[in-house]
Parts: sequence; C-alpha cells; structure tokens
Amino acid sequence: MALTFLPSTKMLATAVRKLDGKEFVSHAPGYWPNVPAELWNDWKWQLKNRVTSLAQLEQHIELSEEERSGVLLSGDKLALAITPHFFNLIPRERNLDDPIRRQVIPRIEETWTSPYDMADPCGEDSHMPVPGLVHRYPDRVLFLVTDRCASYCRYCTRSRVVSGVGEQELHTDFEEAFRYLEQHTEVRDVLLSGGDALLFSDDKLEKLLSRLRAISHIEFLRIGTRVPIFLPQRITPELCAMLQKYHPLWMSVHVNHPRELTIEVKEALERLANAGIPLGNQSVLLAGVNDNIDVMRNLVHKLLMCRVRPYYIYQCDLINGSSHLRTSVAKGIEIIEGLRGHTTGYAIPQFVIDAPGGGGKVPINPGYILYHDNEKIVIRNYEGNIFEYPETGNENVQFAPQREYHDEYLYS
Ligand code: SF4
Repeated sequence: MALTFLPSTKMLATAVRKLDGKEFVSHAPGYWPNVPAELWNDWKWQLKNRVTSLAQLEQHIELSEEERSGVLLSGDKLALAITPHFFNLIPRERNLDDPIRRQVIPRIEETWTSPYDMADPCGEDSHMPVPGLVHRYPDRVLFLVTDRCASYCRYCTRSRVVSGVGEQELHTDFEEAFRYLEQHTEVRDVLLSGGDALLFSDDKLEKLLSRLRAISHIEFLRIGTRVPIFLPQRITPELCAMLQKYHPLWMSVHVNHPRELTIEVKEALERLANAGIPLGNQSVLLAGVNDNIDVMRNLVHKLLMCRVRPYYIYQCDLINGSSHLRTSVAKGIEIIEGLRGHTTGYAIPQFVIDAPGGGGKVPINPGYILYHDNEKIVIRNYEGNIFEYPETGNENVQFAPQREYHDEYLYS
C-alpha cells in the first residue's frame, strides 16, 4: 500500500477556511512545495527535516516576541522539534492563538513557574525500581524505552527527560529491566512509552517486543505513541506487518485537536487498525487548544471515523512552565457533561486527573448520583431529569461518602 501525495492546493484552502477541523484534509506539501513525493512520504526525511531552530521557524511564519523568547530559552528545558507534516497544520496567517501552534511552538510562559508546578508531577522517579521502568500499579509497568519523540509537545509531562536537553537524562537499563520483568510474575501488562517507541527502526522495535513476548506472564503489550499524528509516514505496511506478530498489542495515540486528524493520519490509523491493533486516544485538556465542547465533539467524532476509541481526557499535569496551558478542572467536567448522553457512548472518553505526586489516575465525573443508600439510588440523566432505582439492600456494600454532599441539593 503506497502512501499518496495528495493534490493539496484546494484542500489547504478548504482547511484554512474551515478551522473547526471537522473535515479530513491534507496539507502536503504546504511550506515545502519543492519536495518530491517520495521524499515527503519517507519518514526518515521527515525526521531529518524537522523545524528545530528559530531561523527555520522564521523562514515560514512570523513569531510574536513571546514565542521568540520562548524558542531562545527552550534549549535547556524541552527542545523545539516539529515534523514538516505537523508544521503544515499551522496556518500561514499570523494567529498566535492557533491551537496547533500553541502545542508545539515554545512561549516565554514556559519559563514561569507557578507554586503548584513540579518537575515530575506523576511521581514516576520515585516508583522506578530499575532505570527506565516505572512500577506504580500492581500488575502493570511503564517502560520508558527512549527519550526522543517525532515532535515535542510544550506541555509534556515528562519534559524533565524527554528530548535530552532538560534537567535529567534517561538511562534505561534494558537488560536489568528484562530481568526485573522476568522475576516479577505479577506484571501482566507492559506499556512502552518515553519518548516514542515508534521512532525505533523496525528491527530494534521487533527485538524489544519479541524479548517481552518471551516472558510468559506478560499477557498484554501497549505502545503509547504520538508518531501516527506527528509522523504518519512512519506507519508503513512493513511496520504494521511486524507489529501484528506480537498480539495482543494495543496502542494509545495522542490527538488533542480535530485538525490533527488529516487524511494522512486517518490512513495511518486505518493501517494500524487493519493490522488488528485496538486503538485508543488520550487527549490532554489544554487552554486555547481543546477547552471547548464543540472542538471536543468534533475530535471524538473524527476519532471514531478513524477507528480510534476516545479513551482518556487528562487534566493537564502540573508540569513546570505549563500554567498558561492549563484549564480549570470544572472545564473538563463541563465537556464530559456536554458529551455524555448527547452523542454516541463510544465517543465519550473518561476525564481523569493523574493525582499529583504519584497517586495514579482518578476518574472525574459530573455528579450523576444524587443519593444512594441500601434502599435506593437517585440519579439524574443528561437532561437533568431525576430517576430512582431500587437498591438490593445488600448490607455489605460500602457507599461512598459523596451522598452526603448531594442530600442538600436533592432536598433543597
Ligand atoms: S509525544 Fe508524548 S512524550 Fe513526546 S513530547 Fe509529546 S507528550 Fe511528551
């Protein structure tokens, strides 16, 4: 299956006109009009030609002072890198509030620190029995296999290590990690992340997957990746053929805004789905990017069309220098409220806060339970109508203390 180089002038014009991102469009070749299709479709060319410096950025777009200063200071925090494919999603018109631009172009606000900010908001370093292996939950581990990504997200929760210029270095000890996994028979689920494991060559990734598959108690492999979105050219038929030898293998992709779902990304996701890989999406709730019900509705609908199940919306972690991108928690609840009941259940992700300091993911939901005891549960639906359902009276069930909070507005 060859990747196509789509006639783009009309498509780009359409995309610029309709910025809600509901439609699938291609932006290639965009800012790179003279690059032949064979090079454009080569993922190694995309990586070699990433936008990584102030001069390259300014060749294409006009920056604000906040962005210029942010770029100059990004060299010792989180590197600047944007693939040509993803850079093409940034419109030529100077719109500093563009949701794609806000995700990948550094701003001076990244150097500001709020009292809540942390270097390691999910407490990963304190749950690392072996360098590069995080064992925080009983039956699963996070394996940080590389510190490199195709492009760098300015709100990255692992910016302390990712890109190789931050305050820490990642020194994953693969052999020690394999030994740990062999000894810890309670681990049944391994998530490969980093960084992005799909930047490995097919051979290197296959060695890693086959080594993990040789450990009999590991039932389930997952890859957390933004490569299909930043670098869809990487999802080659050869890669898909290799991955499907290691089932059950699942993949969590990371899309924040519907415009990221281009024709090329849709085709890449379809290749993965055709290889039998179940796909889920994790979005980060970001101010000025996707803190809006209409944007989120478009995103989840497009994800379903790409055969990706919206899985999580994360409240943005308290990572150093991210306060300008964080929203209120109430905004996330409002978005779930605006989706639940109003659209397909498969389209509704779970809103979560990764509890600061290493408490793990906590689901945050609108209050649908108004009252609950061992005789009844009182619930409200998406339209605000109230219903009662009889409880079985099982005395052994412990009810959550939340019911006391709800009494007051049920009977007021
Ligand atoms: S792709 Fe993931 S790991 Fe890489 S910079 Fe973005 S959020 Fe961080």
